[in-house]
Amino acid sequence: MKLFNLKDASQQVSFTEAVKIGLGREQGVFFPQSLPALSNVPALLDLPFAERSAQILQHLIGDELPKDTLAEMVKRAFNFAAPLVKVADNQYCLELFHGPTLAFKDFGGRFMAECISLFSQGERVTILTATSGDTGAAVAHAFYNKPNVDVVILYPEGKISLAQQKLFTTLGGNVHCYAVKGSFDDCQALVKEAFLDEELKQKLGLNSANSINISRLLAQVCYYFEAVAQLPESQRANVHVSVPSGNFGNVCAAMIAAVLGLPIHRLSATTNQNDTVPRYVVSGEWAPTATKESLSNAMDVSKPNNWPRVEQMLKETMFSKHDFFSRSVSEQDTRAAMLELQQAGYLAEPHTAIAYRGLVLDELANSAGIFLATAHPAKFKESVDAVLGGDIALPQVLADALAKPCLAQPIQADYAALKAAVFAKLGVA
Ligand SMILES: *Cc1c(COP(=O)(O)O)cnc(C)c1O
Repeated sequence: MKLFNLKDASQQVSFTEAVKIGLGREQGVFFPQSLPALSNVPALLDLPFAERSAQILQHLIGDELPKDTLAEMVKRAFNFAAPLVKVADNQYCLELFHGPTLAFKDFGGRFMAECISLFSQGERVTILTATSGDTGAAVAHAFYNKPNVDVVILYPEGKISLAQQKLFTTLGGNVHCYAVKGSFDDCQALVKEAFLDEELKQKLGLNSANSINISRLLAQVCYYFEAVAQLPESQRANVHVSVPSGNFGNVCAAMIAAVLGLPIHRLSATTNQNDTVPRYVVSGEWAPTATKESLSNAMDVSKPNNWPRVEQMLKETMFSKHDFFSRSVSEQDTRAAMLELQQAGYLAEPHTAIAYRGLVLDELANSAGIFLATAHPAKFKESVDAVLGGDIALPQVLADALAKPCLAQPIQADYAALKAAVFAKLGVA
């Protein structure tokens, strides 16, 4: 697989290199040089999830990874289901929260850990990542106790749910957490700065685990095929997918799936009140504002890193801009959508409810609509209980994590402070 830097097309890298370096020159993200359609989509849809996913990834990545190796990696990474649940006629929910940290980030995080473990071959690696809530846990669990790997996680202090936070800040061992006094965008800016710091990069063997990492993105392509495979065959012709969007990695993966030939004919990238993209789509002006705190905190992103990739596919008409919708859902409407879903017999947390709202508002007559459940409701117990007036049960992993102390170190949103803290922690002079 060949990829190029969207900010500087002269930088061309292999899949292996793109996984290792994460971000290109001038902080540009990598994009595949070509995305040839799959010739056998109907036959692929008949295969079991892991087997089909290995074939899709082989098609994308090519001969850089031996077929059997890749199949084993996929089997280990995707060892949980992604069920499609019927909520109403023509409305389905793809549940992506059945992995170890109860959010869809497990798919990308676990496949990325497989790739990095394979490519680093015993060299020291430090995974540095900013999290808006769920990436931290997925990445921490995927690398926990792996030899020669340290994980450094930055999260915006007090801006993620307690369950989200405790799932990674209680691990200890090779997982080092910093509670940054700032927003997710501040955390993301610190990570970008670290990648420009040659000293840090060298001494730590730095690697990023953010959704800019191509391995995460490609892994996520696979569950869209799984969604369509679970639709009745008569409904596969006209599929509309609504993705709750923050950094726009997940919707980017959906679009790649469509480019590969999966019959997704309409895409809704639905955001919360952090609406940089919905405004951009209307006005053509990229004007991020200060990040606002929302019920759906994993989408509190005002400078989405993956947008350039989505825009590339729209610009090159790989996906029609007339079939791409992006709207913003208010806090009040998020609550209303959660209540509506409750009435329909489906328990949803705020991100999922936003995807549902986008689906309903952008819906095409006679299409099969799929909205994504990106997190388990219990991961947002505080807001789910407050909005729905209940007391939802905690899965065991969450109850266990909540009972343990938080080991994160508080830190200012300041690069020099972060660097000093990380060097001290990892024993680097
Ligand atoms: C990360 C996350 C999102 C947003 O996904 P992006 O790929 O960043 O757009 C949505 N919902 C949940 C629960 C998340 O953790």
